[in-house]
Amino acid sequence: KIEINNLTKVFGKSGEQIVAVRDLDLTIPDGDFLVLVGPSGCGKSTTLRCIAGLETVIDGTITIGDQDITDAKPKSRSIAMVFQNYALYPHMTAQENMSFGLKMTTDLSGDEISRRVQDAAAMLGIEELLGKKPGSLSGGQQQRVALGRAIVREPEAFLMDEPLSNLDAKLRTQMRTELQDLQQKLGISTIYVTHDQTEAMTMGDKIAILNHGKLQQLGTPLECYYQPQNQFVAGFIGSPS
Ligand code: ATP
Ligand code: MG
Repeated sequence: KIEINNLTKVFGKSGEQIVAVRDLDLTIPDGDFLVLVGPSGCGKSTTLRCIAGLETVIDGTITIGDQDITDAKPKSRSIAMVFQNYALYPHMTAQENMSFGLKMTTDLSGDEISRRVQDAAAMLGIEELLGKKPGSLSGGQQQRVALGRAIVREPEAFLMDEPLSNLDAKLRTQMRTELQDLQQKLGISTIYVTHDQTEAMTMGDKIAILNHGKLQQLGTPLECYYQPQNQFVAGFIGSPS
């Protein structure tokens, strides 16, 4: 379970401050898939970066399971993040990209690390690619490697920031289904950021709609579609009027 209470994040000095996230409350039950949507600049990435510990929080608390991680170091959070641009190391093979984080941040044995990488590769169907470097992989293959790198950490939460937006439409549709199957199989609580309404409506157990850093509605896709709480939600989702 991921719980966010009253999260607020402000950028800039006084006088020219930007409130990126304001008083945000979100609860993601164990194993749930939450889609966080909203227009460009509404605070989606900032929210994820606060949860991952990549931004300092101004106010509010973040807990995972029963652990308050609001001020914990990024490394000590049981979280894996997947980005739009994959962020793979170009000089390392897929195998090395997937094992590097574990080598640096855990005391797991080499055997355990290899086992995890093999298991994740099998799950993602990329066993044949383990010896290749990112430059010789397609976008979809690179994104699978990036997912593999997240899975091997066996985190309590996945944070994904527009992970499919660099893929062409056909591959995106295919990867959506793969990602959902994978998330269900692993049962890891997930926050998935997108500005794509189709992804929001089809992928999430629940969706959270943000605008100007404020939560507009949290509900199932159908609730948000048929019972939008305000004009913004109705317009954004394209609710019938
Ligand atoms: P997009 O869909 O374009 O990725 P987003 O919803 O992820 O948008 P954020 O990146 O979270 O939006 O940005 C929220 C607000 O905070 C924006 O107004 C942005 O300009 C501002 N912001 C984000 N990061 C910083 C930063 N490091 N310094 C100053 N302002 C920032
Ligand atoms: Mg963003």
